[in-house]
Amino acid sequence: MIGVFGGTFDPIHYGHLRSAVEVKELFGLNEVRLIPSAQPPHRGQPSASAAQRLAMLRLAITGQTGLLADDREMVRGGKSYMIDTLQSLREDYPHLPILLFIGTDAFNHLTTWKNWQQLFDVAHVVVITRPGYSPQLLDPFFKGKHTPERCQLSENLAGKLYFQAITPLDISATAIRQQVAEHRNPAFLLPDTVIAYIRHHKLYQNH
Ligand code: ATP
Repeated sequence: MIGVFGGTFDPIHYGHLRSAVEVKELFGLNEVRLIPSAQPPHRGQPSASAAQRLAMLRLAITGQTGLLADDREMVRGGKSYMIDTLQSLREDYPHLPILLFIGTDAFNHLTTWKNWQQLFDVAHVVVITRPGYSPQLLDPFFKGKHTPERCQLSENLAGKLYFQAITPLDISATAIRQQVAEHRNPAFLLPDTVIAYIRHHKLYQNH
């Protein structure tokens, strides 16, 4: 099974990295592909360029087996729609279950994503929740996909909706950009190599 973790990663931080490691272990994944969006369709333009966000991602995962930086959204260019990304991954991995990890915020807006129902034709959707969260009032489409059994994910290539609680680290890229702009020290929120890159390239000076 492979995991997919999309995001703006502007910049990547320990909240993202810790979740990627935890889901890799929990679900016994061969790899987790971190995929930075070129142009996120549902938010403003990122502050750092696509190439810079990818460079920071690569620095952050250096030496971590099983975490991969996947640049297909940047290579493709244009707006980054997850359905296109998953279809391209499905071509690369015709016989492996694909798990798309999204946060509860993203799940609450999933029905605004391009061709959102088709996501389930190519992947499972795993919603990362806070501990204690219980999915309520799923609409009939999601109810039909929902399974409480993790084994269903490895037994099918795609098509299931699963909720997984993970204790999140209270870190956000927005807060990090703000700290950098205010000349505060973001140490221990993200890897030192990424902090050095941000300083070297003078990123996030005007937040
Ligand atoms: P921003 O503050 O710029 O909105 P962000 O820190 O939320 O950024 P994104 O790149 O937008 O990061 O998020 C990518 C994915 O990582 C999303 O699915 C999001 O839910 C998840 N994520 C963000 N922060 C954390 C965190 N602290 N712990 C776990 N997952 C996170």
